[in-house]
Amino acid sequence: MAGAFLDELRALLGQPQVLVGVDCEPHERDWRGRFRGRALAVARPGDTEEVASVVRLCAARGVPIVAQGGNTGLVGGSVPDDSGTWLVLDTRRLRRVRNVDADNLTMTVEAGCVLQAVQEAAAAQGLLFPLGLASDGSCTIGGNLATNAGGTQVLRYGNARELCLGIEVVTATGEIWDGLSGLRKDNTGYDLRDLFIGSEGTLGIITAATLRLFPAPATRFTALAACDGAEAAVGLLRLARSRLDAELTAFELMGRHALSLVARHFPEWPQPFPEAAFAVLLEASAATSEGARERFEAMLGQAIGDGLVGDAVVASSHAQSRELWRLREAIPLAQAREGLNIKHDIALPVSAIPGFLRDMEASLPALAPGLRPVVFGHLGDGNLHFNLQAPEGVDAAGFLRQHEAALNRHVHDAVMARGGSFSAEHGIGALKAAELATRKSPVAFGLMRVLKQALDPQGLLNPGRVLVTDPGVPETPTPPL
Ligand SMILES: Cc1cc2nc3c(=O)[nH]c(=O)nc-3n(C[C@H](O)[C@H](O)[C@H](O)COP(=O)(O)OP(=O)(O)OC[C@H]3O[C@@H](n4cnc5c(N)ncnc54)[C@H](O)[C@@H]3O)c2cc1C
Repeated sequence: MAGAFLDELRALLGQPQVLVGVDCEPHERDWRGRFRGRALAVARPGDTEEVASVVRLCAARGVPIVAQGGNTGLVGGSVPDDSGTWLVLDTRRLRRVRNVDADNLTMTVEAGCVLQAVQEAAAAQGLLFPLGLASDGSCTIGGNLATNAGGTQVLRYGNARELCLGIEVVTATGEIWDGLSGLRKDNTGYDLRDLFIGSEGTLGIITAATLRLFPAPATRFTALAACDGAEAAVGLLRLARSRLDAELTAFELMGRHALSLVARHFPEWPQPFPEAAFAVLLEASAATSEGARERFEAMLGQAIGDGLVGDAVVASSHAQSRELWRLREAIPLAQAREGLNIKHDIALPVSAIPGFLRDMEASLPALAPGLRPVVFGHLGDGNLHFNLQAPEGVDAAGFLRQHEAALNRHVHDAVMARGGSFSAEHGIGALKAAELATRKSPVAFGLMRVLKQALDPQGLLNPGRVLVTDPGVPETPTPPL
């Protein structure tokens, strides 16, 4: 059966666009090295029609499909399971910028466009596409929408969902829904676009999107500020918001442990405040340069005067700004070099963050002595990466096996008790599907299952991801490699 299926696939796409055997390996392992599966094959369609024909073939032959863009997802949702029966549908040949409409402030791009290429295509027209992630040289716009990615500028521009006006989707039966629209107002029935955004390849394959653009700011300022506690960082956020309003475009928190990992793995990069409990990376953007730098520096001056900030540096050039951003962007890379870790991608009301961090600092050592909490993230929108690195010198894989479930429960219980979310921007994938089944309200979970059944009746699109196949039997993630 597999041989006949592969022949049919080759007939649809041409031999070079169907990978098998060792050629599939890069598509079978996730970015973190936590999940490794085995694919029946990798299909590389070149346009929407080809995606639709592949999906129709899979529907006819009962072959499960996992869509894959840049494979930078952090929850194990972009790789096949280990059965060797799934098809990986690689979207990266769908990479045309179909249209940029400067008057309407929109652009229509195909799903496999790398995020950085989308940003550059907007910039070439003097416009801004503000989604920005540390993975933007590899991740695709289809993956960004499928995971409803967040990133560093959500406090000003919103997440991927808010940056998307329309999408084109291949349904589970292989039909093409052209929902590409540049309209900001369209109340004609249920919002199907928002159903597919954030569905992680479980309801349909996104093949193109119409995105919102903004005028490119004329000027931009970056600063790094040292704060001696999370309360001070939250105070700085309040002050920056009140003094800069919409000019505040990024507000990133970095804890001391996070920056010490960067110092260890990237020692050549200077760190202005290595001893600070927290460093905050702030960015302000303005439509005109008139008075903007003065406003930014006056705000920082007041923060120092009010005792919220111990010291601060303001970048005086684009190169210096990049150096400061590089520290922030290097944290996940430094963590990956340090070894396996437990990631918590949590959202909390900003006001609850200092109390949460105090609670964790007091309670975690009893659960796992020597644990290294690596705290960083998008404080401006309440999203923290509260990651736990195994103690120095222990076997990280063994440590995770022993402690991961209890630590997850402890952290997520504390998050939920404060009205938070256990997945702010990375999604659910395979890693958190069992947790979703237990933590989502039964009504919401039931509605999600009804939608899945309606849109993917054969259950072939990324099965077991987001929604466990049987909610009574939570699936355990693939063990760490
Ligand atoms: C260094 C680093 C930094 C990161 N920083 C951030 C961050 O700040 N904010 C953030 O939100 N995320 C971040 N991420 C996570 C990741 O980059 C995002 O989730 C990104 O949106 C995934 O895009 P991708 O193209 O790599 O998708 P993939 O990893 O290929 O896929 C992710 C999920 O989307 C599905 N999918 C992919 N393409 C499609 C499609 N066309 N149609 C339907 N389903 C599809 C897959 O099946 C899978 O479930 C980071 C990752 C890394 C490695």
